[in-house]
Order: sequence, then C-alpha cells, then structure tokens
Amino acid sequence: MTAISETLNDSELANRAMEELSKCLTYPKIGAAVSRSGVLLSTGFRGEVSGKHAERVAIEKLNSEQLRGATIHTTLEPCAEIYEGQREKSCCELIADSGISTVCIGALDPSGRIYSKGMNFLRDNRLTVELFSPSIRQKIESSTFKYDDFSGAIGNGKRRVRSVKNGKKFTVQFAEGDERKTSFRLSPLSMPLDHIDLVAANDSVRLAPGINDFSKIPDPMLYQDPSHFARLPEGEIAIIAEPQSTMVLLVKVLEITPTDIYIQWEVRNIRRS
Ligand SMILES: [Zn+2]
Repeated sequence: MTAISETLNDSELANRAMEELSKCLTYPKIGAAVSRSGVLLSTGFRGEVSGKHAERVAIEKLNSEQLRGATIHTTLEPCAEIYEGQREKSCCELIADSGISTVCIGALDPSGRIYSKGMNFLRDNRLTVELFSPSIRQKIESSTFKYDDFSGAIGNGKRRVRSVKNGKKFTVQFAEGDERKTSFRLSPLSMPLDHIDLVAANDSVRLAPGINDFSKIPDPMLYQDPSHFARLPEGEIAIIAEPQSTMVLLVKVLEITPTDIYIQWEVRNIRRS
C-alpha cells in the first residue's frame, strides 16, 4: 500500500517556504518549497548548504522528472544574473532550466541591482509568476533583511527601511570606485503617517514640488531655496546637493507604513562653475 501524500493549498505552501526562512541563521533569510499539484517535494533555506541559495538547495534535492511542471514557492524574488561571467547560474536561470513551470514569489528583492529583474526574467522565459498573498508578504519583508544593518549603499537603489525611534542616517556613495558620498537622515515616524522628514547638511535640500518621477528632473539645481530638511509625503522627491559637491542625490518616498519606510534614490552628477 502506498501512502497518500498530503495536499497543501497555496497559502500552506507559502507558509512552508516561510518556515524554511526562519531556519536561516544569517541575513538575508530566504526559504523555498518545491511542490507539484500541492504535494510538497522538497524544501531549502539559504545556508542549509554552505554558499547556496534557498532555491538551489531545494531544486538540487530533486531529479528532472520530479521538477517537470513543478511549482516553487520562494520567499524572495530569485536572483537574476548580477554580473557577467558569474560562476554559477543565477537562481532564475536554474529555475527556468529545471523544468519548473510556476514560481510563486514572496517579496521583491529591494536591492537596486535585482529589484523586479528576477520576476521579469522569469516572465520573459514563459514561466508563470505569482505572488504570495499581501498578508504573508508583509511578514516576509520584515523578516528577510536585518534592516538596521542597512545604513549605506552604492549607486542607485530602493530599500525598505525600518523606522527607528531616533531616526536613521544613510550614506549613499556615488558608484564603485567613485568615493563621492551624500548623507541624509530620516526622522522617526510620527502620526499621522502621511509624511517623513528628511534632514541633511545645511543648504543642501531642495524640493521638486509635484514631481514624482526622477526622469522629470533633468536639472536638479533648477530648484531654488535650499534648506536643511524636506517634509516628504509618499511620492515626493527631495534633491540633496551638498554645497561644493558635484554629486546630487535624489530621494523619493515610495511608501510609508506604521513600521517602515520604502525609499528609492538616484545619484546624479552636476557641474559646479
Ligand atoms: Zn539565487
């Protein structure tokens, strides 16, 4: 007599991936579960096998027959190719080549280099891409990264940052090999949650009222009356140009929630005569 395998529904499979996430000992915490027709076939978490991503761990436990037409639930958007000549296939390529046909994603990778690239890659390769339900997604976003470790970045990016009591300072470096930096501080959230205050060096902060798109700011220095701070509702952009610096940092508030702030930034060069 063969045992009848238990069938799991979509949210139960998402929760299995979430359970795997919680086994990770280091950040970012990522878990994955592979299934077919609701039957769990394998699981994996980042670090279960040293140096391997969660998706790879789960996939390498199965053979090609098992993987054909399978579904993978992964708590974080799978990595796409990050740099040319990467030693291993990215998880996206691995998934696309494995025979898996459906990818269910918990949260998009907030690092600027990956954000939505993985999801787009999978769609371009004709895989079905689905998302976890919003309730579990929020739980994942708050447990994947150690937010408070994030205080700096290089180049353009997006990050969901946890709101902390004393505010938080960020420094963005212009690029790899370009040491120019700009810093700013985000104030702690206070009710109502309809804005945040961004503070930077004296006479360095400008506002572009009513403009919600970086590309619509061809010349950041067009905007006058620099101050040391800007009050930013969702969608609004602050322009930070420290006096004498040839680097400009544009910061946009994408979302404000009771626990965190989602920001996007872009670096620019300016000419100082
Ligand atoms: Zn990966």
